[in-house]
Amino acid sequence: MVHSDEQDLYKDFEAWSDVVQKIIGMMKNTDIWALFDDPPARTYYKGNVAVLGDAARASGPHQGSGAGMAIEDAYVLSTLMGHVEHVDQIEKAFKSYDAVRRERTQKLVTTTREASHIWELEHPDFDISITTLCGPIASMTSTPCFQASPCM
Ligand SMILES: Cc1cc2nc3c(=O)[nH]c(=O)nc-3n(C[C@H](O)[C@H](O)[C@H](O)COP(=O)(O)OP(=O)(O)OC[C@H]3O[C@@H](n4cnc5c(N)ncnc54)[C@H](O)[C@@H]3O)c2cc1C
Repeated sequence: MVHSDEQDLYKDFEAWSDVVQKIIGMMKNTDIWALFDDPPARTYYKGNVAVLGDAARASGPHQGSGAGMAIEDAYVLSTLMGHVEHVDQIEKAFKSYDAVRRERTQKLVTTTREASHIWELEHPDFDISITTLCGPIASMTSTPCFQASPCM
């Protein structure tokens, strides 16, 4: 968690409707979740120890793929380990695991970070804000979720 106070939230959501301002005023704890992604690791194994899933490369949540990638890691690693017949072969299996999985999964971290900039309307290539989207959103929906947005 990262410390944040009511004034920070009012500033972040200043374009939003009265409903949102009221919700902020009712919040007892205004701390916010911090989102991190790790710098890329040079390897996913050392000797007879290997890491997978978030331990190998945690990403943000904006592509909803972290658990899927962890399951893929487990599938590949367990399949490779199924061919190991002697302790001397473990490192070779880990080397193959590293070769197959590291590039793909580290790309996920990068694209998730890019997706976060798009989803959070912070991408430098797009001059877009939530108010720019009001028209399209209003024409697509009348759900209560969007009635609480600055579009309404
Ligand atoms: C807000 C949020 C939303 C997400 N949404 C999605 C989504 O929609 N789709 C998706 O695919 N992924 C999503 N993810 C990512 C996903 O949750 C992770 O990528 C996934 O859980 C990673 O699995 P893991 O097994 O590597 O690690 P974890 O799930 O973190 O498992 C590690 C386990 O090890 C335990 N542990 C830690 N230290 C020790 C220790 N010393 N001894 C014993 N046990 C220990 C922990 O308690 C934990 O149970 C989301 C993540 C977040 C935070």
